Amino acid sequence: MNKKKLWLALMLSVSVMHCAHSNPGEPAVEEGKSTADLPEVYKKFVEGITVYMDGDEVVIETRGVPNHASPYWGVGDDLYEAPHAGMVVNPNSIAEQNLTFRLPASPKVSASISATPLGPIGVAVNGVALYNQYAGPNQPLEREIATFDRYHGHPQQFGQYHYHIEPVFLSTDDSKLVGFLLDGFPVYGRKDMDGSYPAELDAANGHLGATEDYPNGIYHYHITADEPYISGGFRGTAGSATW
Ligand SMILES: [Zn+2]
Ligand SMILES: [Zn+2]
Repeated sequence: MNKKKLWLALMLSVSVMHCAHSNPGEPAVEEGKSTADLPEVYKKFVEGITVYMDGDEVVIETRGVPNHASPYWGVGDDLYEAPHAGMVVNPNSIAEQNLTFRLPASPKVSASISATPLGPIGVAVNGVALYNQYAGPNQPLEREIATFDRYHGHPQQFGQYHYHIEPVFLSTDDSKLVGFLLDGFPVYGRKDMDGSYPAELDAANGHLGATEDYPNGIYHYHITADEPYISGGFRGTAGSATW
């Protein structure tokens, strides 16, 4: 991007931010980017996250930082809070990212479940990356759980904050929308909208059924208290995450 374009982009983002403030709850949209066909559910992304359509894909652009307190913000930050009792703070700090997620707008169930990669496998409605149930290649998550803050997130070595398990700032043992995986299927809290725990989840942690956002039914993932926590794999065809 040359300087003139960068300046234009900055000016646009300033005016977009201004608009977003007068319409709380509406995701920010950049000039020239279409939201005409954007499924209604994507309006649940919080202010400051850019969401738009590009062909048959939904594009989500986020700085990837949490909209809640954490010891990982670092002392002196407005959102800093002291570690909770028993927390083992890792040496990393939250850093703004340049994350772009591209998901199919009309996700389709595949014949088989495919493994999720390390790194971002989806995005929460507050723009934070969702990670899978592993701490690293063949490394179980257990050793990292003590490093999670009280909202169950932590940053990796490049400051990319993420959730591997139930992000309790967004969903606490309920049926709220948590976010989307890269295959475009939504992730909900531990319960279905009737208040019950889903009886039978597949190996990907999902099932077909109605949700608040999809009353006619859709394949969706549920967070579970135990492994795989968010998802055991992609049930659909994954889009991409770049940062
Ligand atoms: Zn992690
Ligand atoms: Zn369900």
